[in-house]
Amino acid sequence: MMEVAACIVQEHDLRLVIIAIVVALVGSAATVQLFGRILASQGKSRLGWIVLSSVGTGTMVWCTHFVAMMGFRAGFPVTLNPELTLASLAVAIALAAPGLALAASHRRTLVPVGGAVVGIAISTMHYTGMMAYRIDGIVEWRWPFVIASVLLSSTLSALAFNTFRTSRPGRRVGGCLLLGLAVAMLHFTGMAAIKVSALTLSAERGLSDTAMTQLALGTACAGLLFIGCAAVSALIDGETQNDAYRRMRRMALHDGLTDLPNRQAFNEELTIRRERKGGTSHLAVIMIDLARFKNVNDTYGHQAGDQLLMALADRMTSALLAGECISRLGGDEFAALISYTDRSDLDDFLRRISEVFTEPFLFVRFSATIGANIGVALAPQDGTDADLLLARADLAMYRAKSEHSTAPCFYDATMDDVSRSKRELASELRDAITKGGFELHYQVQAEIATGEISGYEALVRWQHPSRGLIAPMTFIPLAEETGSIIPLSNWIIAQACFEAALWPNQHVVAVNLSPLHLSDPGLIDMVRYALENSGLSPSRLTIELTESAIIHDRRYALEQLVALKALGVGLALDDFGVGYSSLDVLRSFAFDRIKLDKSFVDELETDEQAVALLQAIVALGTTLHIPVLAEGIEVPNQLRIAADAGCFALQGYLIGKPSRKLVDPTIVRSTVCQATSRNLDVSLVA
Ligand code: C2E
Ligand code: MG
Ligand code: MG
Repeated sequence: MMEVAACIVQEHDLRLVIIAIVVALVGSAATVQLFGRILASQGKSRLGWIVLSSVGTGTMVWCTHFVAMMGFRAGFPVTLNPELTLASLAVAIALAAPGLALAASHRRTLVPVGGAVVGIAISTMHYTGMMAYRIDGIVEWRWPFVIASVLLSSTLSALAFNTFRTSRPGRRVGGCLLLGLAVAMLHFTGMAAIKVSALTLSAERGLSDTAMTQLALGTACAGLLFIGCAAVSALIDGETQNDAYRRMRRMALHDGLTDLPNRQAFNEELTIRRERKGGTSHLAVIMIDLARFKNVNDTYGHQAGDQLLMALADRMTSALLAGECISRLGGDEFAALISYTDRSDLDDFLRRISEVFTEPFLFVRFSATIGANIGVALAPQDGTDADLLLARADLAMYRAKSEHSTAPCFYDATMDDVSRSKRELASELRDAITKGGFELHYQVQAEIATGEISGYEALVRWQHPSRGLIAPMTFIPLAEETGSIIPLSNWIIAQACFEAALWPNQHVVAVNLSPLHLSDPGLIDMVRYALENSGLSPSRLTIELTESAIIHDRRYALEQLVALKALGVGLALDDFGVGYSSLDVLRSFAFDRIKLDKSFVDELETDEQAVALLQAIVALGTTLHIPVLAEGIEVPNQLRIAADAGCFALQGYLIGKPSRKLVDPTIVRSTVCQATSRNLDVSLVA
């Protein structure tokens, strides 16, 4: 070590030594920068960066060596062999390339190997360069120094690349210093390896000190310029990629429509807030589900829905204070986060969010008032895990929704029981569908004028092993929610056709169709197969559907209805008078029957407006040539009013409850005739 130091101090021009070290350090910094681009790129671009990096590294090593050599004051005439000088540059570049490629490998064990190869490139360059350096004297090589120089350069270079590939802070500076050290140590240890004895044979005077200094300065400038350009291009490329990455990350974390953070951003923020130590001790996760938003979409179209969502996002964003965050999770589902120390901060936040929904949204083409169901879960009392908090806020939101409450609903442990039993029921339902746990009950329908049976409505029942017979209103919505409705509905249609084909009469069987099933592309083939398989004439099957089935995807729904009609099947519009009751639906498709909803019939005896509306609906049906059936007739007086209004048929407990057995036609006839006879009216009124 002492000899190396003595060699630097006594045998070199120190100014050029300093310049050589500057070249080595600047060049190493550029190499690290370029190496970073190799790591960040792939394919052809990676190959391009390997080439540019090896040229940069080779040039840096070569310049350092050349400048330092020019600083070596041998005390004897010196000349340079230009071919070998250039060959030393070429060899440095050629060997640096595989070294850099290996050091950038995904296999971590290859990183130091690559670094060591770069070290060998430095050494080979140096000793090839030494061969170009012709001294008028006897050069004696001290091999221990040669070996030490190669080992030092390989080890330091391996360490340099290893350091850079870690994730430690300061890895860039560390890598750069170690590589610079590898180049400098190799050179000066290598220089200490030669011992020159005077032997002036030629008449040539060799390069003067001034010429050597000028050569060194010129080389240093040219080298630094080239290395600088390569480093700057790496820097620009890195920045461009960072920019693109930042833009892509923003896009990935924001909702395209409202520009609010999206589900992924929300989850990240929730995790960060859960893991944050100190500061505010409480966190509230708030789920917000819009109410009546679907009406806007259905009535005014999706563009209007989008417009409303954007306006709502603006309102919500302007209601936020620092540290509060609101995201759109998708569709009409939003979520908010607030960290707080004082409960009043949370209450204030919930008040501000609720107020967003009090004012109507006014647009040029339409206006809308929407509501929200809000569910809240609190950390730490409701849980500390991010997923658990989200699930619990969701449960609370569903509770608010089922209770039609606009006030925020806070999670409590009983909600878990409800959701658990719902999950159990859903799994039992799937089981029952595969194992066949259902049966169909039939409810009679009759013509009011004659009392003759016109058909039966098939109503499904679940024969549950422990809970007994379960009504469809309990499990049909669950089947729709869990996606089991289509296999269940397929079974119902096939079974109804099969059983009706065995009836001793030719009555029509009406089957209810879920809106989800109407949008199933396999529906038409399935109905055709059920008819063919059972031998039931298509004219004896009626499909009942509600307006909501048509409103969702109007065009496709109408296509399906036309296809069903083409099979020869009848179509009835069920539950008319509730929900949308849009005349447009009636106009857009030629239904064979309108079924007036029971809730409507319930009010006939007490509400004169209900009677007037019934008369208007019947008049509308008459104009469109669609007979009206009154559902849910329980007492003779309701039947009389329906008959007076001009209803064509009835269904209800008055003439028969849903049952496995078909009813006696004479009983139905006499019940209807008695109820509609004027004498009976008088006695009823009396
Ligand atoms: P819906 O299609 O409107 O069926 C009529 C419902 O009213 C039946 O209830 C029937 O039992 C009931 N009902 C009829 N007359 C009276 C009456 O006078 N008084 C009272 N209180 N109720 C009466 P159910 O069987 O519980 O079915 C309810 C709903 O479940 C049905 O309404 C229908 O929307 C759905 N549903 C039933 N079976 C099926 C099915 O096989 N598939 C599908 N997708 N839905 C079904
Ligand atoms: Mg029905
Ligand atoms: Mg109905």
